[in-house]
Amino acid sequence: MAETMLKVENINVYYGNIHAIKDISFQVNQGEIVTLIGANGAGKSTTLKTISGLLHPKTGEIVYQGKNIRGMRAHKIVESGLAQVPEGRRVFLHMSVEENLEMGGFTQPAGTIAPNMEKVYSLFPRLKERRRQMAGTLSGGEQQMLAMGRALMSGASMLMLDEPSMGLSPLLVQEIFKIIQDVHKQGMTILLVEQNAQMALSIADRAYVLETGRIVMEGTGKELLTNEEVSKAYLGG
Ligand code: ATP
Repeated sequence: MAETMLKVENINVYYGNIHAIKDISFQVNQGEIVTLIGANGAGKSTTLKTISGLLHPKTGEIVYQGKNIRGMRAHKIVESGLAQVPEGRRVFLHMSVEENLEMGGFTQPAGTIAPNMEKVYSLFPRLKERRRQMAGTLSGGEQQMLAMGRALMSGASMLMLDEPSMGLSPLLVQEIFKIIQDVHKQGMTILLVEQNAQMALSIADRAYVLETGRIVMEGTGKELLTNEEVSKAYLGG
C-alpha cells in the first residue's frame, strides 16, 4: 500500500455564515493522481484553498507527509513541499517567463534555482523558447504551463491544480492533460480539481465527487467514468 501523502479529516469551512465545506475527509497517496469533481459552487476551490493555507477550517485536520499543516501560513506549506497552481493561473503578467519561474523558486536555496529551471524547461520546451517574453503575451495554454512550471520551481513533491483546463480550447485541454500526465510520470503526486470531469476521471487513479460542500461519492477514475449517476450529472450522458 502506498504511503499517505495528504490526509484531510472532517474539515468544515465557512465564509461568514455560509457553510461551504461540510465535514469533508479524503486522502491522496504518494504517486497518485486524485481528482475532485463537482458542479459550479460545489466547494472544489474552497477545499484547495483550505489545504494550501489561504483559508482556515473551523474544525478538522490536514496532515501532509505526517505533519499537521492546519493553520500553517501558506508560504510555510509551500516550503513543506505542497504547491498550488491557482485557478485562472495568476502568472505575473508584467514579468518575463524566466522572472516568473524565479519567483516560484524564492523559498529555495539559491543553488537550486538554475537546475530546477532546467528541469522545468525540459518539461516545457516552449517556455524555454519564450523565456524572455512577458508572461502577459503568452497564450492561455502557455500561461498554464508557466503556472505549473512556477509551482515546480518550489521543489514541490505534490501539486494541487485548480481547474487547469478552464478557458482553453479543446486542443489545448488535451495538451494540458498530457502535460499533467508527464509531470505525474516524473514522480509527482497530484490533486486535481476540475469541472471537465471526463478528462479528469480519465487520467485519475481515484476521484471524489463533491456536491454542495459534501463528498457524495468516491471510487477509481474508471469506476466513476462508467457510473450511471456520474455520467448523467457530470459527463453529459
Ligand atoms: P467553481 O467550479 O465554480 O469554481 P467550486 O466547486 O470551486 O466552484 P467554490 O468556489 O469552492 O466552488 O465555492 C463553494 C461555495 O462557497 C459556493 O457556494 C460559493 O458561492 C461560496 N463562496 C466561495 N467563495 C466565497 C467567498 N469569498 N465569500 C462567500 N462565499 C463564497
